[in-house]
Amino acid sequence: MSPWDLNPIYLDNHATTPVDPRVLEDVLPYLRDRLGNAASISHRFGWDASASVDRARRQCASLINAEPREIVFTSGATESNNLALKGLVEARRGAAAHVVTAATEHPAVLDTLKHLERQGCRVTIVPVEPDGRLDVARLRDAITADTLFVSVMYANNETGVIHPIREIGELCRERSVIFHCDAAQALGKIPIDVAADHVDLLSASAHKLYGPKGVGLLYVRRGASQLLPLAQMDGGGHEGGFRSGTLNVPGIVGLGTACALCAAEMQADSARLSALRDHLLARLRHSIEGLHINGSMEHRLPHNLNVSIPGIDADALLAATPEIAVSTGSACSSGHDSSYVLRAMNTPPELLQCVVRFGLGRFTTADEINMAAERIASVANELRRQSALIR
Ligand SMILES: *Cc1c(COP(=O)(O)O)cnc(C)c1O
Repeated sequence: MSPWDLNPIYLDNHATTPVDPRVLEDVLPYLRDRLGNAASISHRFGWDASASVDRARRQCASLINAEPREIVFTSGATESNNLALKGLVEARRGAAAHVVTAATEHPAVLDTLKHLERQGCRVTIVPVEPDGRLDVARLRDAITADTLFVSVMYANNETGVIHPIREIGELCRERSVIFHCDAAQALGKIPIDVAADHVDLLSASAHKLYGPKGVGLLYVRRGASQLLPLAQMDGGGHEGGFRSGTLNVPGIVGLGTACALCAAEMQADSARLSALRDHLLARLRHSIEGLHINGSMEHRLPHNLNVSIPGIDADALLAATPEIAVSTGSACSSGHDSSYVLRAMNTPPELLQCVVRFGLGRFTTADEINMAAERIASVANELRRQSALIR
């Protein structure tokens, strides 16, 4: 049975996005007869695959204002983060490194840094402000003479809050510190320019921008003085030696098309989605008393809304609305498993109990938003009535 049989409204586009039909169209031939290995240099199948990968590399580079040779294809943002961070520390050849990150990073960064800490790195985790943003002055204070890199995400996967990336990039450049940025949520949704932002390494994942799962990229700035990450996957020397393994040609072609579509449609998509998102917020606010928004509205991805509904158990709310695919901060009532991202923002405990994250997407319609707002509000109010009766 397909999950679509339940007639759901998919509003969990921060977890993953559907593959755009135009991406699928471009990928299918590579799963059928365009079967070449991009490293086969002796026949047409290999040349075809290699040319297709080259095209995808240009499409990806163009979306972030990079050179094609600066794009390393990986299996996704998790791998890109591991390659960038572990690879940089290894490239320093054992010299004890100090690294800096923010409290609200994705586990693919935080857990990688925990691993590096066990290997002798010093890790400084900078707290964020109550609106979810990193204060650049605090970051400046955390950088020391032996800081190797700073890793700060472009936009957060729970709150959609966008960090002051250009200021962070300028600071890192000024202090000669390498700047890695996890842009898995931001790429394709808001304009990214690695040159203007002074980003040295940037991670992204195809399935967050309407491409297939299991493919992503790491942008690696190629400058004369640049420290380059050491490969974490050794073998045939693919991807300029940064990442060995036969290239995932269908996936890479899909990522390329996904990037090209985002470049062409981002502006229109984000205008439409931010209007829909604001409409969703207005409707929820109107019908749910005490609705609280988590994180800055000003510095936020256009398709994100993250709210707390005081007095409601998120599990109960989501269980009663199976036709709406949204996600919550996580297991709510205990407070123990509540979102570390929201806790890092000093969110009051009563607001950690019922968090709903809405992630709109390219295929979200106004009808779906109206239905979702109506259902969530009526179920939330019904749950409040019931708990008032029990008390
Ligand atoms: C989804 C995500 C990742 C991991 O991407 P994968 O493709 O699952 O490896 C990393 N960082 C952020 C911010 C994400 O949203």
